[in-house]
Amino acid sequence: MTNRNLLESPRLVIDLHRVRANYQALRAALPAARIRFAVKASPVPEIIRLLNDEGAEFDVASIGEIELCIAQGVDPAVMCYGNPIKKAAHIAAARAAGVRRYAFDTEDDLARIAEHAPGAEVECRFLSSAPQSQTPFGTKFGCDPGEAKRLLVRARDLGLRVAGPYFHVGSQQTDPIAWRIGIEQAGAIAEALAVKDIPVPSVNVGGGLPISYADAAPELSELGAVIAEAFATHFPEHTELVVEPGRALVGNTGVIHAEVVNVRQAPDGRRWIYLDIGRYNGMAETENEYIAYRFETDRDDDPMDEAVVAGPTCDGDDVLYQRTRVLLPTTLRAGDPVRILDTGAYTASYSSVSFNGFPPLTVHVIGAERE
Ligand SMILES: *Cc1c(COP(=O)(O)O)cnc(C)c1O
Repeated sequence: MTNRNLLESPRLVIDLHRVRANYQALRAALPAARIRFAVKASPVPEIIRLLNDEGAEFDVASIGEIELCIAQGVDPAVMCYGNPIKKAAHIAAARAAGVRRYAFDTEDDLARIAEHAPGAEVECRFLSSAPQSQTPFGTKFGCDPGEAKRLLVRARDLGLRVAGPYFHVGSQQTDPIAWRIGIEQAGAIAEALAVKDIPVPSVNVGGGLPISYADAAPELSELGAVIAEAFATHFPEHTELVVEPGRALVGNTGVIHAEVVNVRQAPDGRRWIYLDIGRYNGMAETENEYIAYRFETDRDDDPMDEAVVAGPTCDGDDVLYQRTRVLLPTTLRAGDPVRILDTGAYTASYSSVSFNGFPPLTVHVIGAERE
């Protein structure tokens, strides 16, 4: 995160004003919700400090993220160790650091939490029947909803404090129905717990809130209205709503400034454009061409034509787009600057240490942390 050469390429420039605007827009869309920032989307100290000042909570997935947040002045009491995959030693270290809230989705992990963080508050992640998102989690996380009920009863019996059910509809989820389905399923879990005299103080409806890339996504206000309405239908007024966005808070806050390294007409008959940024130094979410980023160049008034866009390493998979239709100026040539828009989430945090000798993406922060 060092500000080295201001003109180095590639670099990610993050605008803090936009982080604040996004937080305030989400607050306006869901006035009653607790907003918990998923740190993995953009673990930038300035962003963490800004959101901490705004009153956000933090979803952390590792000891590294916990330490990062503590170093920025975040109270461990507003962190949730939301990764259901954690070693006993890491639970103990989190508890020693002051973290008191954990998510789980298996009986094994629940037992480890009870042993190493006794008395902690727990959320149980269930796999909702929501439609697939654009960067889906598949079935890696979340238990069956019936199992969630059983495990939360077990949590109570182990002396833990039950927070409630939790689901994540998959990242870049563009179908608002997903939350309606998840909230309805969470409501059924809460009802079953009520029969066992276990109240549900809060429900975590996860992240997944989308932003517009090449394809437009629904507005935050629209999604907020769907979530609020479903929540009011399935939960009593005193139940707290927790949202856990990453992308929606930081995705549109960053621009990657990159450069064309080479252009060629390949034997496949297609025009290939090689950039100094690729899959391993920031563009990980082009895997399977899930996210279609928008490009901007200084020649966008010239004629446009299709191009394959590839990264700079000697790895055959380091291709950003070959199926997605990307239009770039026919006059584009080596040395030209290329800006990749809305690259504030899951870019720098995903870049490799130094694959093939290409350093990780550097981050430059502009704008005021405090207003
Ligand atoms: C990644 C993640 C999020 C944030 O997801 P977005 O799609 O970026 O909003 C929230 N919660 C957990 C547990 C996550 O792993």
